[in-house]
Amino acid sequence: MTQRILVIEDERDIADLIDLHLRDLDYAVTIARDGNAGLRQATSRRWDMIILDLRLPGIDGLEICRQIRQASQYVPILMLTSKSSELDRVVGLEVGADDYVTKPFSVLELKARVRAMLRRSQLPETARDRSPPTVKVGNLTIDPATRHATVHDEAVELTAKEFDLLLHFANNPGRVFKRTQLLDSVWGYGHAGYEHTVNSHINRLRAKIENDPTHPELIVTVWGVGYKMHSPINAVKSP
Ligand code: CA
Repeated sequence: MTQRILVIEDERDIADLIDLHLRDLDYAVTIARDGNAGLRQATSRRWDMIILDLRLPGIDGLEICRQIRQASQYVPILMLTSKSSELDRVVGLEVGADDYVTKPFSVLELKARVRAMLRRSQLPETARDRSPPTVKVGNLTIDPATRHATVHDEAVELTAKEFDLLLHFANNPGRVFKRTQLLDSVWGYGHAGYEHTVNSHINRLRAKIENDPTHPELIVTVWGVGYKMHSPINAVKSP
């Protein structure tokens, strides 16, 4: 089935360039040229991916990202940010974008990033036959195949990065990770210097999975080092 990508970008040259190259990869592309139209399109139907410019006339990219993340259905978001402001990227990741590319970007880089993100989001379907086992830590259950997590059997809504981070901890119970190690393992390339992004993701994860986020029992802080997932004794893998 053709995958549908919404591009929210007011700069006509950039929008047209993205459109051209993504169509070339056989994606169905829709372009919205300002924030209001973008938000309307983003929330009015299902998309396989949204490419979102940060600076837009009307509603800006951060607010659009926030609102998309409040919707129940998860959609991968790739944010376009400007080189001049490093802060843009950090803030973008913190409001729930999955990834970003910095303008000016190469078409090759953009295409690679889009493919990788779509591949990740399609994984539950293609990997079903060799599903990784469900991971349980205390009252928390994580299903890597469907990318669902529950606490006390209640579903928890997580962004892609929050899920990846949680799974990474749960797969390594008791092991302490420095923030830089988490950036390397969970965020991957090019995120050196964004240690506080880790902190904010962990805070949000705790708000979603801990009984009392002010006294975390699942993801605990190891002072002066980093974080670890607690209760290795209760951590069991079941098929
Ligand atoms: Ca713009």
